[in-house]
Amino acid sequence: MTDGRIAAIGDLAPGPGEHVVDAHDLTLAPGFIDNHSHHDGALREQPDALGAVSQGITTIVVGQDGFSNYPLKEYFRSLEEAPAAVNVASYAGHNTIRDLVLRSDFRREANAEEVGRMRLLLRQEMAAGALGLSSGLEYDPGIYSSRSEVLALARTAAVAGGRYISHIRSEDRNFWDAIDEIITIGREAGRPVQISHTKLAMRPLWGHADSLVALLDAARREGIRITADIYPYPYWHSTLTVLFPKRDFTDRTEAEIAVSQVSTPQGLRLGTYRPNPEFAGLTLAEIAPKLGMDSVSALIELVRRAEAMRAEGVDDVENVIGTSMTEPDIERLLQWPEMSLSTDGELDGTHPRGFGSYPRLLGRYVRERGVLSLPDAVRRATGLAADHMGIGSRGRIQPGQMADLVLFDPATVIDRATTDDPHALSVGIVTVWVNGEVVFTEGRTTGHHPGMVLRRGAAAH
Ligand SMILES: [Zn+2]
Repeated sequence: MTDGRIAAIGDLAPGPGEHVVDAHDLTLAPGFIDNHSHHDGALREQPDALGAVSQGITTIVVGQDGFSNYPLKEYFRSLEEAPAAVNVASYAGHNTIRDLVLRSDFRREANAEEVGRMRLLLRQEMAAGALGLSSGLEYDPGIYSSRSEVLALARTAAVAGGRYISHIRSEDRNFWDAIDEIITIGREAGRPVQISHTKLAMRPLWGHADSLVALLDAARREGIRITADIYPYPYWHSTLTVLFPKRDFTDRTEAEIAVSQVSTPQGLRLGTYRPNPEFAGLTLAEIAPKLGMDSVSALIELVRRAEAMRAEGVDDVENVIGTSMTEPDIERLLQWPEMSLSTDGELDGTHPRGFGSYPRLLGRYVRERGVLSLPDAVRRATGLAADHMGIGSRGRIQPGQMADLVLFDPATVIDRATTDDPHALSVGIVTVWVNGEVVFTEGRTTGHHPGMVLRRGAAAH
């Protein structure tokens, strides 16, 4: 390695003073590129980024689900003044930009003048180095946007050389419409588009992974550069409100669908719940009798209490882990050639994906289940992810590439984080380098913070 880059590969003789690592039965891979990450949320407080580096992640791509740090120019500058252990790239968020323009009057489609103001803000974020536009169309305020608003903004990002990445408009009830929307955006904008954290998250969708793959393959044959990422767990982590896509939190029919089709009372487990902190960690099936209610009424009551607190201006009122997917679907989706890996995880979150996604891929889906070969899994975590994000100088072990590397033991690597212990460290990740510096080894972070900001198109990208 020289100046943070890989200088040469092959059967090399060590030069004077060079450090030699004996990797005997271990595997050396490019550092993992997490192309849907929320690890930035606590990065300022935890610049060592234990949850990320302990699973071999060297680059996080943030600004996801339509939410980004604004303005990116200042966010990037602050990261360069006080770097973290990992590299950071970011999208510009549609929700963030829409909020700046519409403020509290967001429960409607934007008019042409407002979309024009959003496009100006997006151009500014693209100029700061955003990879493209991200959307989170199941969340406020993006859920109220029209297709044409999103398309206009995706085109603005495309003109600047950016991409489009989306938490699509529905992962359950209106899934196929949402897939049609992102394929249409890919066709009309003429630039790469990516489905974030791909899910078939509702009972009637289970077993339809082949139908989804067929649609995506047909789009690619047409020339649409659509790709996707996935995290390897059958349960998601979001808010209770996403269970009510029409945003009528008193609608019993929607609540019934949520507990019978999208998930189950046993499958919905609260993470944070500020109105009743004692409910944290309990499932809806456990909470309902405490409220003296059936599970449908209990869900409506939990959202009512949370919304009352939100109306008082309290942030982060609630979140929930919901089991909505099946293992056969996850395995089929993992095998789609354009599926890269992501975590959707946080450094301080309650979903184990924040600490376990990549070791789980390598241990469970490669070694134990044989869903992917080791080289194919590594490719999806590195080179393919870099290609999907337009990151040119990382993701491969080649001379000239930045020296982001992970040394791991393919015979033992496995996740240990669970919903009960979401920050348990994985096993088998031996040493992790970022830009040539060791950031994690022997189960500990080193305190080194060599992470760089990766702006779209920049040299050390
Ligand atoms: Zn999301």
